[in-house]
Amino acid sequence: MVRQINDKFLFFDEMEINLLKKVLTTKKLSGTSEWVELYEKKLCDYFGVKFAIALSSGSAALHTALYVVGATDGAEVLVPATAPIPTVIPILIARARPVFVDVLPETFAFECNDLKRKITSKTKAAIIIPMWGYPLPYKDTLEVLEEWGIPLIEDTAQAHGTIIDEKKAGAWGLISCFSTHDRKLLATGEGGFALTNNKEIYDKAKLFSQFGYMDGIHFGYNYKPQTLQCALGLYRLDHIDKQIRIRTDKATSLLESIRNDYICELAIPPQSSPNYYSLVIRLKASSEKVRKFISFLANSNIPSDIFKYGYRPIYKHPLFREFYNLECHNAENLVKTITTLPVHPDISNDDIEYIVNIIKKAEKILF
Ligand SMILES: *Cc1c(COP(=O)(O)O)cnc(C)c1O
Repeated sequence: MVRQINDKFLFFDEMEINLLKKVLTTKKLSGTSEWVELYEKKLCDYFGVKFAIALSSGSAALHTALYVVGATDGAEVLVPATAPIPTVIPILIARARPVFVDVLPETFAFECNDLKRKITSKTKAAIIIPMWGYPLPYKDTLEVLEEWGIPLIEDTAQAHGTIIDEKKAGAWGLISCFSTHDRKLLATGEGGFALTNNKEIYDKAKLFSQFGYMDGIHFGYNYKPQTLQCALGLYRLDHIDKQIRIRTDKATSLLESIRNDYICELAIPPQSSPNYYSLVIRLKASSEKVRKFISFLANSNIPSDIFKYGYRPIYKHPLFREFYNLECHNAENLVKTITTLPVHPDISNDDIEYIVNIIKKAEKILF
């Protein structure tokens, strides 16, 4: 039988059935139950922040974040040109305007000169995105934003448990946004949450996500989560660190076997560690050779997010065609020379051996 490497890891634990039974018997399943509060408390503990708000999705968290920092209706929002589509759609929902900024060579961090160049009187927020859970050097970005009084929103949808300069991703921004969609490290089917250390931001976000408390004064959406999702999240939060350890071990052993002059891991800043949402490798070869390499892997049933999602600089998608003539060289180079490899807990040692063998065959393409 042909081996198929699965890019999805779906968590299940028998204990969850008992938990969900217990929750169902309370009969209260809305977004304001005690289970939601318990989940939010535990999120605060895990991420080391003061406030957490459970929400219906990562997209809801991003829209809420934009609203509470005032990045709506004609405001400009700075986003790296390597942003994925789900980061940018909430900006459109908020009727704000995305402004795409180039990245530093070989990272997903803002290139600060381009960042400064693109700040205007309308800039109301910047969104930073640790793609595939890879830590980014935040400090330079934060310095620029602080100087201009622009709030940082973290889109940490892929970065549960990622460490940046000895502190968890999601604990840095004025507000940070997480998804708990099935593909993410903390998975509840669909779902999300926002984190902040700022009481005023917390109050505003809560108000916005609950219809403005229907007081007839404040505007808001219904972005409340479901109790069952939150109960699952509460349980599964205990399993993230173990998952990250397993993923890190698999990534390390895979890298040891494939690293050479043409293949390396995406750079990791000091005092930082990825959660290994995926292993990201950088290929030192022309974009054409890299494309052939990735195709060879895909044809051998080793999936790549680059292939699967047509990953490219965001302004190359037809949805953003008004930005087609932008040129962010570092972003363009980066997306043409990377690919992802699954290293989740369901990847067996045999799978790793298979991936290594296929890469050994494919690497000749890069020479
Ligand atoms: C998954 C994801 C989102 C969207 O989260 P949903 O819960 O699916 O709405 C946003 N940004 C990034 C970077 C993501 O990976």
